[in-house]
Amino acid sequence: MAVESHQLTPGAGNNVGMNPASRDSGLSAPAYGLLLGHTRCHYCYSQTPTAALWVSSFVETDKEDVVDLGDGALLHYIEYLDEGAAAFVRGHAPWLRPASTRTSGQTYLAHHCTTCGAIQGDHFVFSPDGPYWPQDNGDLSRLRFIEGPGALIARASAGQSAWMDRVTHVCSRE
Ligand SMILES: [Zn+2]
Repeated sequence: MAVESHQLTPGAGNNVGMNPASRDSGLSAPAYGLLLGHTRCHYCYSQTPTAALWVSSFVETDKEDVVDLGDGALLHYIEYLDEGAAAFVRGHAPWLRPASTRTSGQTYLAHHCTTCGAIQGDHFVFSPDGPYWPQDNGDLSRLRFIEGPGALIARASAGQSAWMDRVTHVCSRE
């Protein structure tokens, strides 16, 4: 089966090349953090760390219009982060780096295996077989939570599930 990550190529080593959110469109959140887990590299089969960017709630706007909003969510296909959040991610999850898709040219923060460097696409990391589909609070408590410093501006897709509202109560904190 073709996995989306096979269509990815490594991008620049920092946020250069990521398009900033325009002033009046993007996603904003009052609080965020990283949820750390593990997955098995699809290429070398080593255990490799994962980090999901969690937001406590979010509002997504396009021009003046609110196009989506909700409570706890994970951000997928992150195309842009404000500098504070980008620095936070680089500090705690340096294996999350920009990579671009060959097909669409879209650049987003993608997981890179810490053993072999292979890109683990979001389609793979956030699949039901990945670390971010906890079945109960026991599963959820095995994810480590690192609270971010304040609010966040991003361009990304927000994915919501009921467990994402329980993160700050259930997950162990660093
Ligand atoms: Zn690997």
